[in-house]
Amino acid sequence: GSYMPAEVKPKILLLGLRRSGKSSIQKVVFHKMSPNETLFLESTNKITKDDISSSSFIQFQVWDFPGQIDFFDPTFDADNIFGGQCEALIFIIDAQDDYMESLEKLHSTVSRAYKVNPNIHFEVFIHKVDGLSDDQKIETQREIHQRANDELSESGTDSIHLSFYLTSIYDHSIFEAFSKVVQKLIPQLPTMENLLNIFISNSNIEKAFLFDVVSKIYVATDSSPVDMASYELCCDFIDVIIDISYIYGMKEDAETSAFDNQSSSIIRLNSSTILYLREVNKYLAMVCLLREENFARQGLIDYNFICFRDALQEVFGIRARASMMRERNQNSL
Ligand code: GDP
Repeated sequence: GSYMPAEVKPKILLLGLRRSGKSSIQKVVFHKMSPNETLFLESTNKITKDDISSSSFIQFQVWDFPGQIDFFDPTFDADNIFGGQCEALIFIIDAQDDYMESLEKLHSTVSRAYKVNPNIHFEVFIHKVDGLSDDQKIETQREIHQRANDELSESGTDSIHLSFYLTSIYDHSIFEAFSKVVQKLIPQLPTMENLLNIFISNSNIEKAFLFDVVSKIYVATDSSPVDMASYELCCDFIDVIIDISYIYGMKEDAETSAFDNQSSSIIRLNSSTILYLREVNKYLAMVCLLREENFARQGLIDYNFICFRDALQEVFGIRARASMMRERNQNSL
C-alpha cells in the first residue's frame, strides 16, 4: 500500500520580498517549469497558498509578502501563520539585488515567528547566485551571515539559529537546498538512512537516494557522501522516467498518475554504471547507482528492495499511529 498519512508530511513556508524569486522556485521545483519561463511570471500581490500535498511527500505553502503586510499590525494573524502547522520557514534573499531591505525583513520575520513558535527551523536561501563568481558567492554568504546574526544578537534573540544556502533555479542547487531543509523535518531520517545502508550493502549498490518524485527533492540517502554529479544524474533519470510514463504509461482515467507501484526502470550508462529506479509509494521512488557486474543478481536486489519498502512502511505506520494516539489522549483530557 501507499500509506503516508498527512501528519507525517513536513510543512514548509516560503517567504521573502517581492521579486526575490519565490514563485519561480515554487514553479521550478514543484511544477516542472523550466527556469527560463520564470522570466514571464507575474508578480503576486497577495498571500498565495500552493497546495501540492496531494502529489508530494511534502506539504508546502508559499506566502508572498507584499509591501503592505505589516507583522505588527494587530490584524495580522501570526499565530495562525507561524503556529504548529509551520515546521520550516524559508526566507529568500535576492543576492543580485541590494539586500539591506531583505535583511531587515528577515530579522522582523524571524523574530516574530520565533515568538509564536520557537520550534520552527529558519532557513535562508541566498538566491540567484548564478550571476555571481565563486569569490562573490563566498563573500556574499559571509556578509549576509554576519549581518543577520549581528542583528539577532543586538536584539537579544541570538538563540534563534539561521541556516544559509546558496541557491539558483538555473542549476541543481535549489533542489539540493530543499532536500536539506526537508530532511531536517523528518524525525524518521536516521532510521531511513540505516535502512538504506543495510539495503545497499546487502545488494552491492554504490549509492541510493529516496526521492520525492514530483519535486526531485531527496528525502533520504545512505550515509556515504553525496556527490553532486550522481545526484544530478538521478534527477535527470527521474525526469526521463516521468516523461516516458506520461507519454506511454497513462491509464484510462487521467486522474491517476502514470507513476504507480508497478513502476521500475533501468538505464545502462556507457561508463558501465547502472541506474535503477523502483517505486516506493505514491510519492517516493528509490534511485540506485550501481556497477553493471553487480546487477547480474537483480533478483537479490529486488528482494532486498521489497524488504526495505516493507520496513519503511512500518516506520511511517508506527509514527502515524503514535501521533494519532497522542491526539486522542489530548482530546480526552
Ligand atoms: P517573487 O515575486 O518572489 O515570486 O519573484 P519571482 O518568482 O516572480 O521572480 C522574480 C524574477 O527573478 C523573475 O524574473 C525570475 O526569472 C528571476 N529569478 C528567480 N530565480 C532566479 C535565479 O535563481 N536566478 C536568476 N538569475 N533569476 C531568478
